[in-house]
Amino acid sequence: MNRVSLLDLKAEVELLWDEINAAIQEVLRSGVFIMGPNVKALEQEIARYLGVKHAVALNSGTDALILGIHALGIKPGDEVITTPFTFFATAEAISHFKAVPVFVDIDPRTFNLNVEQVLAKITPRTKAIIPVHLYGHAADMGQIMEIAREFGLRVLEDVAQAFGGEYKGRKLGSIGDAGALSFFPSKNLGAFGDGGMLVTNDDTIADTVRILRVHGARKKYYNERVGVNSRLDEIQAAILRVKIHHIDEWNRKRREAAAYYNELLRGVPDIELPYEAPYAYHVYHQYTIRVHNNRRDWLQARLREVGIDTAIYYPVPLHLLPIYQDISIRLPQAELASREVLSLPMGHTLNLSHQQRVAEAINAFMNS
Ligand SMILES: *Cc1c(COP(=O)(O)O)cnc(C)c1O
Repeated sequence: MNRVSLLDLKAEVELLWDEINAAIQEVLRSGVFIMGPNVKALEQEIARYLGVKHAVALNSGTDALILGIHALGIKPGDEVITTPFTFFATAEAISHFKAVPVFVDIDPRTFNLNVEQVLAKITPRTKAIIPVHLYGHAADMGQIMEIAREFGLRVLEDVAQAFGGEYKGRKLGSIGDAGALSFFPSKNLGAFGDGGMLVTNDDTIADTVRILRVHGARKKYYNERVGVNSRLDEIQAAILRVKIHHIDEWNRKRREAAAYYNELLRGVPDIELPYEAPYAYHVYHQYTIRVHNNRRDWLQARLREVGIDTAIYYPVPLHLLPIYQDISIRLPQAELASREVLSLPMGHTLNLSHQQRVAEAINAFMNS
């Protein structure tokens, strides 16, 4: 029996085979391979799509976070409030500047920053908040922006998992001072290699990141500050320009697949289905259930035996990582989530029969 994989990237390639090949060949014939016309056009197309003034193409989502934090002027010793329930890059970007990630517990339904707990963590050293739109579900941006305004904090959205997602009809990444996008292949809008982007309405942030990405030079060989090399390739930009035309349809398909899982899995013992807040347009980067009563690892092992791949995002909340061992706090909701979450196969090419197989297997195991 063939496996049901977590994500089938090959099916997407097949879908766009001719278009993508033509786009790649055009780049090869042009002889321009880095930061050329495709990168420029992609920046304009994504800025228009998200409704922001500036988009700066970069080498990865991690770089978008790092250069975004740099442009916000975060200094050593500054505190940045964020979630412990995310990929390490979010906090790593803060620690990169010797600033202090201040972890706040999560809302158990959305898995995102619990806004009430943000208030309690603000000190005179707090400079910024980095909310993460985990799994494709918006953080509570209305309340986060209200707190940021009241306390004079900057907000950098981590949109790596939520391209096309919305908060009250506004595209994620367009609400805070800036947004960090990732085009890692497995993301909702993915390249065939690394890629990322910093989006913002702020002229100064955009200008700073544009300079930082090319060694701190506005004019080549007249370097003004210490930057990095974080340019995007033309081939990746050309591929993303083909894909961006399909992203709304693909996100709709992810939502349909999520609705179908909800229907198939309703009422299964010890399984809690994903939640979508009234303010969110969830784009289901992951379809993540909770498995109660300590049955998560057991269920994952059983599913693996019958050829169904699942994943745990994330098994260790960041405040418990060895690198942050001197932060001795307990964040019970994040810790519980790390023991209960299970992401099921998802993607816009996921077919109904695979979903049925997954649901039937979960049903059978959880009732046994
Ligand atoms: C993928 C991801 C990143 C990092 O993006 P890369 O493009 O892989 O560098 C950052 N934050 C979150 C939440 C992610 O999922």
